[in-house]
Amino acid sequence: MDIKKVWLDESEDECISCGLCETIAPMVFRVPDKMEVIEGVNFSEYVEEIKEAAENCPTNVIKYE
Ligand code: SF4
Repeated sequence: MDIKKVWLDESEDECISCGLCETIAPMVFRVPDKMEVIEGVNFSEYVEEIKEAAENCPTNVIKYE
């Protein structure tokens, strides 16, 4: 599976700024306050890391497609 888009979805819960996503995939996520997706990243190079971050995010706010 290829990933074309990654975003923060707070429609059901909020990012609690735990930093886990940045630890798992520092080339994709940074957490200066709430999570931000780093611009210009080729998500295809980090598919496994993005999936792992999304699965392990404690509030389930990382979405991708
Ligand atoms: S893992 Fe989830 S809750 Fe934690 S900083 Fe990342 S997006 Fe926010």
